[in-house]
Amino acid sequence: MPELTFLGAARTVTGSKYLLTHGNARVLFDCGLFQGLKELRERNWQDLPVPATSISSVVLTHAHLDHVGYVPRLVKQGFGGPVFCTSGTAELSRLVLPDSGRIQEEDARLANRHGYSKHSPAMPLYDEADAHRALGHFHPVGFHREIEVADGVSIEFMGSGHLLGSAYIVARLSGGTTILFGGDLGRYARPVLPDPEHAGDVRADVVLVESTYGDRDHPTDDQGDELAGVIRETAARGGKIVIPSFAIGRVEELIYWIRRLERERRIPVLPVYVDSPMASEALRYYIQRAHELDPDMRPSGKPGVGDVSAFATARFQVIASPQQSKELTASRKTGIVISSSGMATGGRVLHHLAAALPDPKNTVLVVGFQAEGTRGRQLIEGATELRIHGASVPVRARIAKLNSMSGHADRSEILRWLKTLPASPRRLMLVHGEPGPMDALKATIKSELGWNAETPQHQQTVAL
Ligand SMILES: [Zn+2]
Repeated sequence: MPELTFLGAARTVTGSKYLLTHGNARVLFDCGLFQGLKELRERNWQDLPVPATSISSVVLTHAHLDHVGYVPRLVKQGFGGPVFCTSGTAELSRLVLPDSGRIQEEDARLANRHGYSKHSPAMPLYDEADAHRALGHFHPVGFHREIEVADGVSIEFMGSGHLLGSAYIVARLSGGTTILFGGDLGRYARPVLPDPEHAGDVRADVVLVESTYGDRDHPTDDQGDELAGVIRETAARGGKIVIPSFAIGRVEELIYWIRRLERERRIPVLPVYVDSPMASEALRYYIQRAHELDPDMRPSGKPGVGDVSAFATARFQVIASPQQSKELTASRKTGIVISSSGMATGGRVLHHLAAALPDPKNTVLVVGFQAEGTRGRQLIEGATELRIHGASVPVRARIAKLNSMSGHADRSEILRWLKTLPASPRRLMLVHGEPGPMDALKATIKSELGWNAETPQHQQTVAL
């Protein structure tokens, strides 16, 4: 009988890993890092319950670190099999995994310098070279193409609309069981990314679905009004707008909206700078794969040429060198600077914040969820000063917050997608959520669909 073991994202939102055991085959669906609280991050150091060498293959839903970030560790531990994913996921992984390796190295260096690791010397979970080795195992597969990934296990990728290349996975086992791994589910009727695909003809026996926002609906789309207001007011004051942003996904959505507001003449045309090497690389992949994006973003006119302007405003500039970044930081000219990291925990955006925060003419625009303990969170909670690079920076700039951009389906969208299943699954398992939203979603599913959902625990094994 096939078994599923929940090795991550069980009653929490990071570390996605589900181990399927079927006959001699062991397939790991998603291979993500735990992030956030220390007690979660420490799980990255625990060995999996089976040796890495005994795992036949890995199948990935998308390139966010909490879904791919453990692959280099697994390879370091001796995993030698293939890693199946879509082409978009393979491309974005080439950006995020080496970057993650560099961050792990940097963390270990800091721990050694300040002596705060209990291991001596502190070691990185993996380094940049490990990440490059891991990428050698990646096997890109197209959407809607059934492929055998281990003895008696075939999979197919379906679009989930959450990130470039993101997928949910239909796994068909010899013996007849079909499992649907929901991955991270995107949203409906949003720009840039397509809607999640209908599960229309997939008769799944077992379904795993995320529950990050299982207890709420996102605010209704304001068609860019809030963003337009912030840009107009700051431009009128002659200030600068600094937007901390995740390098992949969020940047694309921001540029889409700024471009649209310019075209609709709802904001003045300002210089827009993207100052993040990873973001500019990712932008390139989005442009190359425009045919996988929302129909609005697809190339029009010239055949075979991506509509580059879909991701460029009238006065658009990608900042390449650290020198250019320094000049932009020092400049007091009115403009919009998009830079990472998204919660201002590191990266080039820190220099922009240190320069922009003391001046009341400027605006710092915080977008989306900000985790506890991050500078982004401190700003929206009204901090009057911020520590950046060891110095105290006074906060006199206007702090604005934009709530409308989230890549995850909300409660109604999760239900909408579940309703596309042709029949109720034998078992529905909620994953990728904190206990509160997860239990709320469980109750809603019971009342709206009449289905009993399960909420497996970390390291629980379920016979299917
Ligand atoms: Zn994700």
